[in-house]
Amino acid sequence: MKIVARSNKKKKGAGKDKKLKKQKEQDELTISKLNNPDGYKVSKFFLRAYDLIKKFQEPGQTNAQVRNAYKIGAENGCIISIKEYALALAVRHETTNDCIQLALPWALEGAIRGNSDCYRILINIYAAACEKVDAYSPCALCDYWMKFSNKWGIKNDTKDENEEIITSKDQKKRCGVIRNELKDSLLFKECAMCDEADSVEFNVTLQRCEQCKMYYYCSEKCQSHHWNNQGHRSECKQYQILQKYHKPYAKEIRDAIKRGDDPKDIVRLQILRKKLGLTRPRNDYEEYQNIKEAGTEESTELTAEFSTFSLEEETPAVNPYSLLIAREDGTVYLGSIPTVI
Ligand SMILES: [Zn+2]
Ligand SMILES: [Zn+2]
Repeated sequence: MKIVARSNKKKKGAGKDKKLKKQKEQDELTISKLNNPDGYKVSKFFLRAYDLIKKFQEPGQTNAQVRNAYKIGAENGCIISIKEYALALAVRHETTNDCIQLALPWALEGAIRGNSDCYRILINIYAAACEKVDAYSPCALCDYWMKFSNKWGIKNDTKDENEEIITSKDQKKRCGVIRNELKDSLLFKECAMCDEADSVEFNVTLQRCEQCKMYYYCSEKCQSHHWNNQGHRSECKQYQILQKYHKPYAKEIRDAIKRGDDPKDIVRLQILRKKLGLTRPRNDYEEYQNIKEAGTEESTELTAEFSTFSLEEETPAVNPYSLLIAREDGTVYLGSIPTVI
């Protein structure tokens, strides 16, 4: 009797397994259409996130639980989760003005791994920085990633809904503007600061930034202003880190990720993460994590109601958009995670 009962049980279990397996296959198919156009191996972390998506997700929104599942996946080096997490943070910023600087390290993690969506997310973040921080246009960094995006980016016909959000017309325009700025400067050989061109008549001979060779200057004055006051020191350093530690190995890293190699074993990727400061210790940037743009959400209603208090409060000294480029040594302000992922 016992034996019969056991075998019945087993049979029932096997049927359930089969059903689960079929469901899993179905899920992976849907995931590959929606979230995985690059065809990565789907990790257990992303499958978990996908279960939550099915349960909680409303179209066009990423709720906190789903975002948290992406975060866990990202922190374990799952490339689809890295992309979705970067996208969720960037889109969340688009809709609620929430800490855009949190999206940057993850967009960069994805971009250095060769993820085509992350190129686009990253470029959009730089475009936003360019619009919001008066003095700053990270043309060289934009151009660097734009070249990869053009080479390895996905074609328009595989766009999903989220992508539509992140590449809105407005953002496309912004990207175009910074790129054109750089093109103008290089094609027409104009000073990056004052648009002055080469001229025998006025005795102007443009000089390039010797290190990145991405900008021209008419004078030492213009060059030093760009370097010291407009963030080129940071940009130039990060550009050089990318040229030295990313560009020659970009394909090697991208191929390994596509193959499904464990990112922990991709030596060039881990060296690059370190050089870019993505692995920096958390207490290096704790103070920057919750900085918001002045005049958004919290500050509007509350300051009106408690105006006396708000007068005594210090105004935020750091503009979150200024955290999007790099520190003076070219490393990121905020890291992703200090561990090897
Ligand atoms: Zn000039
Ligand atoms: Zn430079």
